[in-house]
Amino acid sequence: MAVTPSSFRSDLLAGKCAVVTGGGTGIGRAVAEDLLRHGARVVIASRNLERLEETARELSSLGEISALACDIADDRQVKTMAAAAQERMGRVDLLINNAAANFIRPSEMLTPVRWRKIVDIVLNGTFYCSLEFGRRMLEQGSGRIVSIVAAYAWTGAPGLLPSAAAKAGVVAMTRTLGAEWAARGVLVNAISPGPIDVPQTREHLWPTPEMQAKVLSSIPLDRFGSEQDVSSLVLFLASDLGRNIAGEVIVSDGGQSLGRGALDMLSELRAVRAKPKGA
Ligand code: NAP
Repeated sequence: MAVTPSSFRSDLLAGKCAVVTGGGTGIGRAVAEDLLRHGARVVIASRNLERLEETARELSSLGEISALACDIADDRQVKTMAAAAQERMGRVDLLINNAAANFIRPSEMLTPVRWRKIVDIVLNGTFYCSLEFGRRMLEQGSGRIVSIVAAYAWTGAPGLLPSAAAKAGVVAMTRTLGAEWAARGVLVNAISPGPIDVPQTREHLWPTPEMQAKVLSSIPLDRFGSEQDVSSLVLFLASDLGRNIAGEVIVSDGGQSLGRGALDMLSELRAVRAKPKGA
């Protein structure tokens, strides 16, 4: 998947150094690609080094990108990764907390082990990364942290309890750090995408055309979001354009979180009223 070039200036992030967790696949990969297209140097970090290196090779014609192996659920690995990223690029201006994991299971069937697995990655991992890079940014007096959350942080989601609880924690972390670090030059924000049709969601969340249509019918805009809908917001928040935003979560979900309400009834009513009388 190639990211369609956005209409931001191509030097929007010239000279900036970014770390994208989970940057080898899906949304993270698209974010890494868009950052490169706009002049940033990029390190992508996650567990599967082989896949990261393949992504880095594929994107290398766009700019300077390299890969680092790191399980963000392990605070020592995050420490090592942060030091290595800093050494490679000289500084880190931007952290994208994108890495996450998820599975669908009725809550009564959860075990503490499965609960911890997700919370350790999504909540604790995001905390370890934010702290490691945040401290460096505070020292240099500038930086941006953008975390990718999900709408069910507010609504909850049957079958997705560990991820919903962890993402809610990331929203609270975003608001707290956003207020705590803003005056010291470090802006912490989040993006909440709606359903995005990537291989991972196609495989695990809507594997059949019927399931896909059902999800689509919940989105007032009648389209899935794209990875670029997320990466454009990352560019905005990472650049000078986002200089007045702190502790905020920007929602990009085609209106899904608002619900469809009586939208379908409205269309039907319009059709009935448009019919000539007696037809
Ligand atoms: P994805 O392709 O599965 O990406 C998840 C990434 O996280 C993978 O690259 C994975 O790489 C990495 N990761 C998982 N566990 C890790 C760990 N312990 N340490 C380091 N990296 C780890 O999924 P995606 O759809 O692009 O999701 C990206 C983000 O968007 C997630 O935060 C997700 O919650 C959010 N989001 C997605 C959607 C959607 O519809 N797709 C909607 C709302 C929010 P490794 O396996 O190499 O570690």
